[in-house]
This record gives sequence, structure tokens and C-alpha cells, in this order.
Amino acid sequence: MVSRLIQVEDFDLVIFGATGDLARRKILPGLFRRHAAGQFPDTVRIIGAARTATDEAAFRADTAAAIAEFDPARAQSPDLPAFLDRLHYVALDATGDEGWAQLSALMRPGVIRAFYFSVAPVLFGALAERLAGHGIADGDSRIVVEKPFGRDLGSARALNETLARHFDEGQIYRIDHYLGKETVQNLMAVRFANMLFEPLWNAHYIDHVQITVAETMGVAGRGAYYDQSGAMRDMIQNHLMQLVCLIAMEPPYHFDPAAVRDEKLKVIRALEPLAPGDIVRGQYVADGDTPGYLDDVENPDSRTESFVALKLRIANWRWQGVPFYLRTGKRLRARTSEIAIVFRLPPHSIFDDSGPQKANQLVIRLQPNEGMNLKVMIKEPGPGGMRLVQVPLDMSFAEALGRDGTDMPDAYERLITDVIRGNQTLFMRGDEVEAAWAWTDPVIAAWEASKTQPEPYDPGTSGPEESLGLMHRDGRRWREIKT
Ligand code: NAP
Repeated sequence: MVSRLIQVEDFDLVIFGATGDLARRKILPGLFRRHAAGQFPDTVRIIGAARTATDEAAFRADTAAAIAEFDPARAQSPDLPAFLDRLHYVALDATGDEGWAQLSALMRPGVIRAFYFSVAPVLFGALAERLAGHGIADGDSRIVVEKPFGRDLGSARALNETLARHFDEGQIYRIDHYLGKETVQNLMAVRFANMLFEPLWNAHYIDHVQITVAETMGVAGRGAYYDQSGAMRDMIQNHLMQLVCLIAMEPPYHFDPAAVRDEKLKVIRALEPLAPGDIVRGQYVADGDTPGYLDDVENPDSRTESFVALKLRIANWRWQGVPFYLRTGKRLRARTSEIAIVFRLPPHSIFDDSGPQKANQLVIRLQPNEGMNLKVMIKEPGPGGMRLVQVPLDMSFAEALGRDGTDMPDAYERLITDVIRGNQTLFMRGDEVEAAWAWTDPVIAAWEASKTQPEPYDPGTSGPEESLGLMHRDGRRWREIKT
């Protein structure tokens, strides 16, 4: 199945931090894929900016090297030379004044201007100020800001205020790349483009919801950043919170930015404060020669969590009494992200001796192999009486759409295209981010005040024992972490 491709309008995109890891790994390869798909008019330009005093030729060569490294299947693409021709480079410092006049001279009048802030968040304010001060950004320009958006409510609010001094909310695109994932958007399609699920999507029919985002990697290599953050700030406050919003929100009246984001905000505002007994935090330990968290971050006294499991409640009519169990962590058994909607059991079983009744589950896989799986009870084939068995109705999106999986657009590709289109639906609004921090702040503050250590857990497991207890106590169990 080939999707319709609509070219975007002409634009100049400036990537601040173009020599950095994110630009090389995601942004530039993603832009190349959109170029190769024919999404960009011929005149589109991409301008890299960073302090490194490199020139255009070297930047183009490094971009080709980044594509070879991170998207090797396309390294020899015949489309590559024309993409590299689009690239320009300006050496500038976000905190100084050199280079800005050169950038200004490069920008074309009359086309959309987008500025991707792929630099440390401490530089966001300086960039916004200089873009405005040098007259490079106009009223139609867009800025894209990366996570983390603050580290608590106070810093997020300050950042919002700084950006608001130079840009309207309608110009600010706060990226949460989870929202660019195909399956995450499919949550909205499944819920609101079908009659099948929405009537059951409430406390009458749903027993609980489980969200797991598990990684096998530790934090080595980015230990210094991670140790200042932890799983609550790095994953729960943004990515998992966004998933909760899309599962729990009311139907927006229309699929447009204001309507969708209003509904998401209502969910965050309806979250009950977390009770200490409803949260488990963990830290992975060493395993043979593989270093533990404390070695990875080179901080023997660290109390930062590499794992969090928690039970949250949403205080509204639809979700009264339905717990949402969330867990995320590093160095776990498998790399997998999934949402499981676990339905209630039928109120009465008419089958005797049919084996234990199992609840229906709708499992939405974010990775690997994006897709959905609906578990239903059927009769086990054969003459042995009415024995019931649960089977999955499995749907891989790539397979169902006749794709091999490698041509499914990456989250960054989709989100950058939305920026050019001026569509903010899949970006977080300032008030959403602040509301999410307002909910997580007290938990983090209590941890920091308590001086207690996170629970240790062995690498390659499902996290600390205590996280299993979080569900066992309620007579429920986590789904197995597996790919
Ligand atoms: P990085 O590898 O450290 O790159 C930082 C970039 O910023 C480099 O190009 C650097 O180049 C440039 N830079 C640093 N100081 C500058 C200054 N004063 N003026 C202009 N440019 C400056 O960082 P990253 O991993 O790419 O991350 C970039 C942003 O994305 C951060 O906000 C990060 O939190 C976020 N993010 C990254 C990832 C990821 O997977 N990497 C994922 C999610 C979010 P020069 O040294 O040449 O100036």
C-alpha cells in the first residue's frame, strides 16, 4: 500500500547543534529520507550551525558519513548527492555574536523558516534571543526544542517564559519523539476511527492498563547526563505521560492541535498525587564483568533511579477505579515498549471445566515490530469438550500495510515534516509540560529528601522484586518483558 505524498512548502531549516549526536543520528538521516521520498521542493535548504569551525564541504562529507553509519541501507542511494547539495554550514556560538550576520545573510526571504535547537537546553534562551535580536526569525518562523524541557516545574516555567519573550506559543514545537511513532498515533486512530473499542474504553469494561518501556542498555556513555535526571525525569514525566494521555483522553471534537492538546491536559490535571507505596524505584547492579549503574555514572553515592514502576490513578468518571501501571528501566530483560489494555472478565461463565478464564487484552506494541494484538478466548479445536484457550489476533502494521518495516517513517521524519506544515498536534504545549512536572515534582522531591537508596536489581531481569509486588498486591501481574 503506497501512501499519498504531499510536498511541503519551500523552507529553510537551521539545525543548531548540527555536529552533535542527535543531528547525526536522527535529524539529518531523517531529513534525507524525506528528501529521497520526494517530500521537499528542489529549493529547500538545510543549514547546519555549531561552534566547530568547519566548512560546507566538510559538513556535507560528515553528513554522508552519518547517513552511512546510522542508515547504512541508504548510504549508496542515488538521491544522496542532491540531498548533500541542499546543505550549508555556519560556524556560530549560541552565546556570542559572531556568525549570526552570516546566518542572516543565508536565509531566503519569503519561505518558511524553521530552527531546530538540537543543543543543550541551557542554550535555548540564548538562541531564541539571538534569532530575534538579529531579525532572523519572523512571526511565521518555528522553533523546535528538544527534551529535556526543564528538570522540574520551576525550570520548565522559566524556560517557557524565556521562549515566550521572543516567540508565540504557536511557533514553539516541543519535541517528544514518542508522539511521532506510528503506533502512538495509531492509538488515536484505533480509538476514534473505529466503533469497536471506544464503547468499552472505560472503567466498566477495563480492569487496568499496563505500560512498559524496557531497555537492555545501561547508561554508560551518557552517565553524567543521566545521573542528573533518572527514569522519572527522563521517561515518565514526558514519554510515558504522553502515552497515558493518549490512552485516557476524551475524544477531541476535532483532530487539531488545540483540541487534542486540551484533552491531553485534562488527563494530566486529573492525575491523583502518587502515594509513596505506589512507586518503586530501582538501580541496576553489576553482573560479573558488566558494570553496575554506580560504575556507569562514576558516582558511588548516586541515588538516581535507573528503573521506576508506579501505579497511577485518574480521578474522573471514565477511569474511576482503573489503575494504570507504568514501568520503565535500563538493563532489563529485553528491549520492548508496549501498552496493554486489560479488560475485565465476563461477569459469569457459562462453561464448566473449560479451564481458567482469561481476560481479553489489547496489546499495542511500540517496539520492536510496531503493531497490535488482541487476545480473545476461543474453543480449543478437537473433540475434547468445550475447553477454552486464549489466542492472539495479531497485526503487524508493517506487514498489514505491505511494507518491510524499513520504509516506515521514523518519528523524527514525521515530526520535522509537521513543523514545516505548521501542525502542532504531536508536540507538547507549554501548559502540558508544566502540568506533568507539577505531578512528578513532589515524588522526586520526596526521594531527594528521604536519603534512601533505590532498590537494587540484577541486569537482564524485570527490575526489582518490589515492582512485582506493586501488582501482586492488587491480585494482578505484569506481562512478561520479552521481544
Ligand atoms: P551533543 O552531541 O553534545 O551535541 C551538541 C551540539 O551542540 C554540537 O553540535 C555542539 O557543537 C553544539 N554546541 C554546543 N555548544 C554550543 C554553543 N555554545 N553554540 C552553538 N552550538 C553549540 O548533544 P546531542 O546528544 O546531540 O543532544 C542535543 C539536544 O538533544 C540536547 O538538548 C539533548 O538533551 C537532546 N536529545 C538528544 C538525544 C540523543 O539521542 N542524542 C535524545 C533526545 C534528546 P560544537 O561543539 O561544535 O559547538
